[in-house]
Amino acid sequence: MRIILLGPPGVGKGTQASNIVKKYNIPHISTGDIFRANIKSGTELGITAKSYMDKGLLVPDEIVVSIVQDRLAQDDCKDGFLLDGFPRTVEQAEALDIELDKMGIKLDKVVNIDADKDVLIARVTGRRICKECGATYHVINNPPKVEGVCDIDGGELYQRADDTEETVATRIQVYLEQTQPLIDYYRKKGLLLDVDGTKPIEEVFRTIINSIE
Ligand code: ADP
Ligand code: AMP
Ligand code: ZN
Repeated sequence: MRIILLGPPGVGKGTQASNIVKKYNIPHISTGDIFRANIKSGTELGITAKSYMDKGLLVPDEIVVSIVQDRLAQDDCKDGFLLDGFPRTVEQAEALDIELDKMGIKLDKVVNIDADKDVLIARVTGRRICKECGATYHVINNPPKVEGVCDIDGGELYQRADDTEETVATRIQVYLEQTQPLIDYYRKKGLLLDVDGTKPIEEVFRTIINSIE
C-alpha cells in the first residue's frame, strides 16, 4: 500500500496516519516529524528547518525532496509507505513522480482530508503531543485520561512551538496557496479520495479503510 495523506494543518493527517500504518504495517513518513527530530537533536538541517517552521512557512523544496528521496530508498519502504505532509507543493509532487518512476512503483491512493478554517484553528491550538512517543491528543476532542500525561507511556504532553493562533493563520494561508493545487493534480491522475475531516476520528478512519481496500 502506497498512500499520501493530503490536507491542511490540523485536519487530522497524523492521527489517521498512525492508525493506517498500524493496520497495513507500513512506515509512516512525516516530513514534519523528521524536521522536529532534527530540531531536537540540534542538527544543521534542524536549525535551517526551524527558521521556516517557526514562521509557518514551508521548508524549501530542494531540502524536503532530498530527505524524502533518501527515506524512500530505505529497505522498509519496499512494500509500501504512507507519506504524511509531503508533497506540499506542485514542485514536490513532480519530484516525487520522477522518483517513483525511477523506482518502478505507483501510488495507490491520495487521501484528501478537509475541514473549515475555524475547525482547523481549534484543532491546532488544542493539540498536545507526548514527549516520549509522539502520540497526539486534543485538550477537548481527544483528551488523555490524566491531563498533561500520555495514556500509553505516562510521558509529558507538550504543545508544538508552531501551534499558536498566529502561526496557524499563516500555515493555513500557505496551504491554500501552495498545497491546495495538489488536489487537482492528483484528481486528474484518478488517485484522489475526498474525506470529510470534521467527522469523528473513528469514522474518518473507517471511510479511508473502506475506500482503499
Ligand atoms: P495534522 O497531522 O493534519 O496536522 P493531527 O492529526 O495532529 O493533524 O490533528 C490535529 C488535532 O486535532 C489533534 O489534537 C488531534 O487529536 C485532533 N483531531 C484529529 N482528528 C480529529 C477528528 N476527526 N475529530 C476531532 N479532533 C481530531
Ligand atoms: P507538519 O508537522 O506537517 O504540520 O509540518 C510542520 C512544518 O514543517 C510545516 O509548517 C513546514 O514548515 C515544515 N514542513 C513539513 N513538511 C513539509 C513539506 N513537505 N514541505 C515544506 N515544508 C514542510
Ligand atoms: Zn506517549
